Amino acid sequence: MEDRFGHRISYLRVSITDRCNERCSYCMPRELQEWLPREDILSYEEMLRLIRIAAGLGVTKVRVTGGEPLTRRDVVSFVREIPRISGITSLGISTNGTLLTHEIAGETMASALRAAGVHSINISLDTLDRDFYAQITGRDFHSQVLAGIDAAIAARFDQIKLNAVLMRGRNEDQLIPLIEFAGARNLMLRFIELMPVSTTEVLTEENFLPMAEAKRMIESRYGALIPEQSFRTNGPATYYQISGRSQRIGFIGAMTNLHFCENCNKLRLTCDGKLRPCLGSFLEFDILKPLRAGASDDELRQFFIDVVDRKPEQHDFRNNYQPDRKMVAIGG
Ligand code: SAM
Ligand code: SF4
Repeated sequence: MEDRFGHRISYLRVSITDRCNERCSYCMPRELQEWLPREDILSYEEMLRLIRIAAGLGVTKVRVTGGEPLTRRDVVSFVREIPRISGITSLGISTNGTLLTHEIAGETMASALRAAGVHSINISLDTLDRDFYAQITGRDFHSQVLAGIDAAIAARFDQIKLNAVLMRGRNEDQLIPLIEFAGARNLMLRFIELMPVSTTEVLTEENFLPMAEAKRMIESRYGALIPEQSFRTNGPATYYQISGRSQRIGFIGAMTNLHFCENCNKLRLTCDGKLRPCLGSFLEFDILKPLRAGASDDELRQFFIDVVDRKPEQHDFRNNYQPDRKMVAIGG
């Protein structure tokens, strides 16, 4: 599948739930959340059918996300089916890490996911400070996440990435500790610019910390970061090497990096069956309806092709974008 701008679509992010056991301030409101009704959520069988169709159209990489994907029942049985789909060569999962030590059938959730064929795991960690973690996420789960990271390391994923959202006035003092933490464990750390994907209040002039500024803060400690133009992970991050170390860090600068969309290869499937050609655009197309109305594989294939054809050249975040759906419902 190729869009009008020559982007080849090879990456499908599948949000399997809008539910989450945390309440990150930049992702969802703290007050009690109304979850989507069960019947509006795609079943695993429906998701697998759509992934199969996408794979037939050139998708090779799938990332399972949410909400918190590990809160959905039988997630391991679901992910086990994904690498069995012809054409899928890479499977990742994004998690807040809180449930990775949960025991299932005598092993940790992390080991079970690895054994089910998950190659790469992204774990969110914005701070090493327990109290501040609780403030950001609305939950006191910091020690579970640290244990979850250890469980992921023990499970020997091909790749483990830590993701930290940059927040001015909140976690600048954490940039260096997070780099040291990741370096000591040989993990890749990425800093993400805050995006207006949830409510507009979360993104203000005061709390937005651009990646260039974070980079300067990091350079004042470690010296100039060495750009790694050739290193890519299929995602939108730009990577740098820390001089004198074999440690790589990444920046996801959706707001300030004007080249952010140039190599976009992504399509999103929300848990309620909407295909989204771009995270930062209102465009979404309801594939659940035709799917449940008995559409054939050919018809669904055409649906994918039509959505890709509507993929915008770049996101709309810089144009006073007013989010209409919370990140948790879209799937980050
Ligand atoms: N629950 C999982 C987690 O927290 O990693 C997966 C879903 S979460 C929506 C995926 C990623 O999106 C996380 O790294 C999270 O920090 C990031 N995210 C959520 N809201 C964001 C926002 N407003 N701006 C930038 N990143 C955001
Ligand atoms: Fe939940 Fe992840 Fe959103 Fe935090 S960022 S509220 S953990 S879905």
